Amino acid sequence: MALTLHVDGARWRAAQDAAIAANPGLVPVVKGNGYGFGREVLYAEANRLRVTMIAVGTYAEVPGALAGFSGDVLVMEPFRAAIHAATQAATQAGLPSVDDGRLVHTITTRVDLDGLLAANPAARTVVEGLTSMGRFGAPAARVGDLVAAGRGEGVTLHLPLGSGHVDEISRFVEAVGGIRPFFVSHTTADEVAALRRRFPEHRFAARVGTDLWLADRAAYEMRSHVLDVRPLAKGDRVGYRQRPQAAGHLVVVSGGTSHGVAMESPASAATARSRAVAVAEGMLEAVHRVRSPFTVSGTMPRFAEPPHMQCSLLALPEGVAPPSVGDTVPVRMRLTTAYPDAVVIE
Ligand SMILES: *Cc1c(COP(=O)(O)O)cnc(C)c1O
Repeated sequence: MALTLHVDGARWRAAQDAAIAANPGLVPVVKGNGYGFGREVLYAEANRLRVTMIAVGTYAEVPGALAGFSGDVLVMEPFRAAIHAATQAATQAGLPSVDDGRLVHTITTRVDLDGLLAANPAARTVVEGLTSMGRFGAPAARVGDLVAAGRGEGVTLHLPLGSGHVDEISRFVEAVGGIRPFFVSHTTADEVAALRRRFPEHRFAARVGTDLWLADRAAYEMRSHVLDVRPLAKGDRVGYRQRPQAAGHLVVVSGGTSHGVAMESPASAATARSRAVAVAEGMLEAVHRVRSPFTVSGTMPRFAEPPHMQCSLLALPEGVAPPSVGDTVPVRMRLTTAYPDAVVIE
């Protein structure tokens, strides 16, 4: 009675191996919901891949990463001395594991570098450059000084989606000077190869999550249990909202908002009008107007009403053979917002 992510282990691992082979030096990103697999599963995969470093999103993820993965752990959010100090005042502990020699901190300002070195004089650092992404980073002209001041191990660059990455990264490489590794994000294997040709004396390593863990969509499938099936006469009312239904069957399936069901944008709504309605009503309110992500008896029925926390009510149209209680049905979900109850690697 669960939403379960089924993984074809051999196929999934072959896709990971291919991604690493195509992009040597790749640093796996393990963050957030662990791309639907959970972070613990991905630490184990990173160990299997024998990579020397993974990248995590936040300091909150550091203790788990150090426990689950045996190599270096790069924290992609910048170290902030003020937050470390405030956390220390509140908990006597500060940000997690700042002392650990396997941790590599991201630095964007001198104040933060000084604060980090005060907490741990041996702290390892990389310096993030401010790209057109505009999220975190030091301006290109300051990156070299920050690297030198912190005996930095490299420079990190996070690029927006789209093209033009090679030129933007090239400008940084030239502005920073010196020879050091560049860790680049959202840069394809082809772009990294082009950078290596242009700057053969530098090392480039891509930080990759989606194109590593979710490279082969056929390697995994989300499945839900059919929990109940009931005939509906036209006008029958069901659910919290007591909406009248068309004739057919009500199918109750496992998987709701707590699993991330219907948490994606309604871009899949069939028509411009239904998309406009979705925007006007809010995503969750409008989901009954779009097809649900559950495939039941070969169709994708509509939600009878917005999904509940752990299950969903689907309206199967008249003429479609209903499933049986206990059947499993596939669910199409974006894994970066999915929280399955279980992950089964077979
Ligand atoms: C999340 C993140 C990545 C990985 O992104 P994917 O699209 O999953 O490959 C890389 N770099 C940074 C800085 C990130 O925040």
